[in-house]
Amino acid sequence: MTFELPTLDYSYDALEPHLDSLTMEIHHSKHHAGYTSKLNAAIKGTEHEGRSIEEILNKCAENAAVRNNGGGYWNHCFFWESMSPADSGNSSPSGKLLASIEAKFGSFDEFKAAFKASAMTRFGSGWAWLCSNNGELSICSSPNQDNPLMNIEGCSDTPILGIDVWEHAYYKKYGPGRGDYVDAWWNVVNWAVVEDRFNSTTQ
Ligand code: MN
Repeated sequence: MTFELPTLDYSYDALEPHLDSLTMEIHHSKHHAGYTSKLNAAIKGTEHEGRSIEEILNKCAENAAVRNNGGGYWNHCFFWESMSPADSGNSSPSGKLLASIEAKFGSFDEFKAAFKASAMTRFGSGWAWLCSNNGELSICSSPNQDNPLMNIEGCSDTPILGIDVWEHAYYKKYGPGRGDYVDAWWNVVNWAVVEDRFNSTTQ
């Protein structure tokens, strides 16, 4: 089994002006494509061949090539699915997820501030995550292409939302302004998808 670069459910320019078209094109067709092909090369002929990506991530801690490229593969699949055009009607949470956000963080705005702080304090390249443990929400971040599926200490609940804070995700439009990127990114989060993920952790 080899992994394939997924096609996006929207065009490269669909998340404008928040995420610019050129960044999206390079991010998907170069960065994500690179992680995908390097993952396939790294698992070829090893015990990982034939495993699901989730199983690989659970067992790859010792192998840097599998860890970096497997994480890069999964993280970007998850990231693309977490977004939709700003006018799609999915730009705020509702239902049990909103109630859980308000119970945990006080309000949706306070949650966004806490999540942004996690994204801003991740030094260098990495990701910030919103996770659920049977409905109990938490925020954490991870370096490089690590993710909560790798059983990282303090960041191992089930991820339901993640933001890429590598410079390649925002530098063309925002320069060093990671905070402006995070602020704009909220406009294109697909909360319907996040809510489905959340609900699947509470059953
Ligand atoms: Mn990326």
